[in-house]
Amino acid sequence: MGVKTKEEYLDSIAQMKPTVYMFGQKVESVLDNPRLRAGIEATGATYEIAHLEEYKDMILTHSPLINEPVNRFTLPPLSVEDLVMRVKVNRALGNYVGTCHQRCTGLDCLSTLSIVTYNIDKRYNTNYHKNFLEFLKYMQKNDLVGNAGVTDAKGDRSKGPSQQEDKDLYLRVVEKRSEGIVVRGAKVHQTGSLSSHEIIVLPTRALRKGDEEYAVAFAIPSDAPGLIHVVGRSSLDKREIEGFDIGNLRYSKYCPTLIFNDVFVPWERVFMCGEVEFASEMVLRFSAFHRQSHGGCKAGNIDVMIGTALTLMDYNGTAGASHLKQKVIDMVHRAETLYGCCLAASYEGKREPSGTYYINTALANASKIHEGKELVECIRLMVDIVGGFVADLPSDKDLEHPEIGPLLKKYLKAVDGIPVENRIRMYRLAEKLAMESADVISDIHGGGSPEAHRITILRETDLEKKKRAAQRLAGIVE
Ligand SMILES: Cc1cc2nc3c(=O)[nH]c(=O)nc-3n(C[C@H](O)[C@H](O)[C@H](O)COP(=O)(O)OP(=O)(O)OC[C@H]3O[C@@H](n4cnc5c(N)ncnc54)[C@H](O)[C@@H]3O)c2cc1C
Repeated sequence: MGVKTKEEYLDSIAQMKPTVYMFGQKVESVLDNPRLRAGIEATGATYEIAHLEEYKDMILTHSPLINEPVNRFTLPPLSVEDLVMRVKVNRALGNYVGTCHQRCTGLDCLSTLSIVTYNIDKRYNTNYHKNFLEFLKYMQKNDLVGNAGVTDAKGDRSKGPSQQEDKDLYLRVVEKRSEGIVVRGAKVHQTGSLSSHEIIVLPTRALRKGDEEYAVAFAIPSDAPGLIHVVGRSSLDKREIEGFDIGNLRYSKYCPTLIFNDVFVPWERVFMCGEVEFASEMVLRFSAFHRQSHGGCKAGNIDVMIGTALTLMDYNGTAGASHLKQKVIDMVHRAETLYGCCLAASYEGKREPSGTYYINTALANASKIHEGKELVECIRLMVDIVGGFVADLPSDKDLEHPEIGPLLKKYLKAVDGIPVENRIRMYRLAEKLAMESADVISDIHGGGSPEAHRITILRETDLEKKKRAAQRLAGIVE
């Protein structure tokens, strides 16, 4: 099959027939829906750049599994260099699309499964790794996108899965048949589920004895019978439907709630079923990989904010203001620190028994904590630099209006020689970067809530070693 072009990717999405609801209505064609299309275009960029001279050496690689060139988003890392390239590709794409390209989560699931299915088989002599490798070959040969179905609805947070009054609040196996399993539940905040060919499901949390029906991992096509995508609202979603005041004219992000209404999964697509003690390893490894991915792409998003701030400084006549230059520096150092932390997590990566390389968990989680705080700070700095029109710029419809349009353009003009239309476009982009809830909230909760990162850091850090070092200097131990 080979590495797809963007057009081939769009054709492959057009072939799928998922069940989709948005704003109370069924969506028959995801590609013809401008809201969803903007998200699918962002994933399309991962195909597009594979054929662009500037990026192709970065995103194309070789898969020893199928002995063919593949897009990196289908290759679990096989070296430290692969771990490093994950970050570089994500930064380049974060900069290219200015939002979420939605393809990293699928790779994070593949990378996790390539390690954990091997470990489960070693313990139980099961067939999960073989199932996984067949699935991986299919993903690589057809250059497909996977979505990460990790976050369950979770119900009452003080109770575990099997203690919930409604047993389906965590996705579970409700039936085992000779040909496969039937699953029921919901996965929420599913970034790009309709940009994906496959939904890859992993458990959302550590599990214990008694939770066996929840210890399940598998993959199914995004249009599998019984699967329902309900597209969530986000702050600027109607802009794409209306077709004006969009900001980012090329790309966007959407996150459906995904309902598994008794969905059948054949055994050959099952990667874990009942091995409760491996649920925590799945979650730990997925979240570490995903937190590392975030750092790369969000550094790329900050790059777009910096470009927006600098352009508007030129357009507003503030390019010489030294306090604004200082604020740009504050943005740049935040992007670079985030990037540096993810790169460090990669350089400290190690080979796992399955042959896949795994990052340094403490560094990956440290980068995500940094992201959660510093992205908000970068938005604040960008808004400070560019001014108040991020909040209340008149609509394109008013700017085009025969009576008030010319008046608005007169008063929105700034530096001589800069077309007023360009200034307006940049403010719209600044608004999208600062106010799009699907992006801004993912900086905080994407890949797990901030406390989850902190707990992981605590668990993964050798505190005793730090104590010993201090005690040695104080003459308490040798
Ligand atoms: C834009 C966006 C995109 C996302 N994309 C994806 C995706 O593609 N795939 C996917 O699977 N998930 C995705 N997520 C989900 C994300 O991983 C979750 O939002 C995150 O794990 C937090 O879960 P929650 O939203 O249910 O919040 P909660 O788990 O309810 O957490 C809310 C707060 O309560 C605290 N809390 C919760 N339970 C407890 C407890 N028992 N004890 C003490 N404190 C507790 C948390 O620490 C947090 O501070 C996305 C989220 C967002 C916002």
